[in-house]
Amino acid sequence: MMTRKLPIIALATAPGKAGIGVIRISGPQLLPMAKALFNKALTPRQANLLTLRDAQGESIDQLLAIYFAAPASFTGEDVLELQCHGGPQLLELVMKRCLELGKDQGLVIAEPGEFSLRAYLNNKIDLAQAEAIADLIDAQSAAAVRGAARSLQGAFSNDINSLIEEITQLRILVESTLDFPEEEIEFLENAQARERLSAVMRKLSALREGAKQGKILRDGIQLVLAGAPNVGKSSLLNRLAGEEVAIVTPIAGTTRDRVKESITISGVPMHIIDTAGLRATSDLVEAKGIERSWEAIGAADLVIFLQDPSSSETTAATEILELKSQILKALPPKCPVLEVNNKSDLLGNPISAQDENQTLFISAKTGQGIEALKQKILELVGWGGSQDGVIVARRRHLDCLDRAAKHLDQSQQFAANGNISLELFAEELRLAQDQLGQITGKLLPDDLLGKIFSQFCIGK
Ligand code: GDP
Ligand code: ZN
Repeated sequence: MMTRKLPIIALATAPGKAGIGVIRISGPQLLPMAKALFNKALTPRQANLLTLRDAQGESIDQLLAIYFAAPASFTGEDVLELQCHGGPQLLELVMKRCLELGKDQGLVIAEPGEFSLRAYLNNKIDLAQAEAIADLIDAQSAAAVRGAARSLQGAFSNDINSLIEEITQLRILVESTLDFPEEEIEFLENAQARERLSAVMRKLSALREGAKQGKILRDGIQLVLAGAPNVGKSSLLNRLAGEEVAIVTPIAGTTRDRVKESITISGVPMHIIDTAGLRATSDLVEAKGIERSWEAIGAADLVIFLQDPSSSETTAATEILELKSQILKALPPKCPVLEVNNKSDLLGNPISAQDENQTLFISAKTGQGIEALKQKILELVGWGGSQDGVIVARRRHLDCLDRAAKHLDQSQQFAANGNISLELFAEELRLAQDQLGQITGKLLPDDLLGKIFSQFCIGK
């Protein structure tokens, strides 16, 4: 996949019926193929109204063809976009005819992400931008769309590149003095190397904070909702979602909750796992769902234990305690746990939103305390509260930023009085730089590159 130069073809729009469907072809030299398809010269960058015919000369579709000559195209190669009528059978026929007539040029069906991969390999976009295309398409909220658009326009890459540039300058400075070891301290002071390093570290730290927000926007938050039957888990989910997404029933234990619901709170995607579904079962489909729930609990960002202080019911107490300890054991380290009392409307005396133990009081029924709960949720998962300027980011980016920060920490230690080693100082700077370079794709091993693009859909 990494090196082939053959022309590729794929349906660029979603499968299914629609007004139009777009088929995209990219390759080093597409004019002969265009000629074979339409028997006509195409004007570049203009909509050409043409008829595609089958082998018998019968019309398959009248379509708009737009031809982009290399390198001024998305992939950097010649690109031919065919805007056809959007019927699945029709598009199938168009594809087949293209493959027939493109056979001499070696036309093949594109692999997932291959168009974006070519754009990347031809330096039209960097890796973070290529990822942003996929994230833009997969965005789960309006804020995520805007964040991905910013990354695609290069906001994230620019920050990374300017950090790399500053580290490079510092390295050049250090490496040019490596031959004069007796002047190390003097050099560090004259060059203000420590100050410059601190400035780079501050910028990196701001970038990491932004990327954490960006990861929340992209992937959302895994929120586990646990508690005894009938405490109001489904009602709370409905209330948070602002619509009827879960099924509420007044009979304990008979709740047929859906296992997972996705909602947004203040624009932040939340994937909520209602643990009502977690029970022993002989139903295979249900068992599969439960297995997935436990996996999700293992990756949770926050747990809410909901309780009903108005209830004197104790029958389920041991089971629920058992489930609670099972959940606590399955959670990832440092996952915050929030206890919430529901049904505050039944408690008689006016209740303040939070007691001295920081337990929240809410009513899923009246909506009391829900706003405070939402704020608490956003606070506990580390959401900064503002979507202004946030870019989307992936786990991969966070890992690279974390490793870069570690290397900068290390390099700082090699600049500390009593422990100075300019050689190691420079080496750690280089390692930090490598990590940052992996975000935009420089210095990324080929197998990793292939893995990233193979997660794209076909046609991207
Ligand atoms: P779950 O089993 O934990 O999902 O509980 P449900 O959401 O199905 O609710 C169980 C019962 O408690 C239903 O009759 C709800 O109407 C009721 N309920 C839920 N929340 C509240 C609340 O805040 N106040 C009152 N008074 N009733 C509630
Ligand atoms: Zn329920």
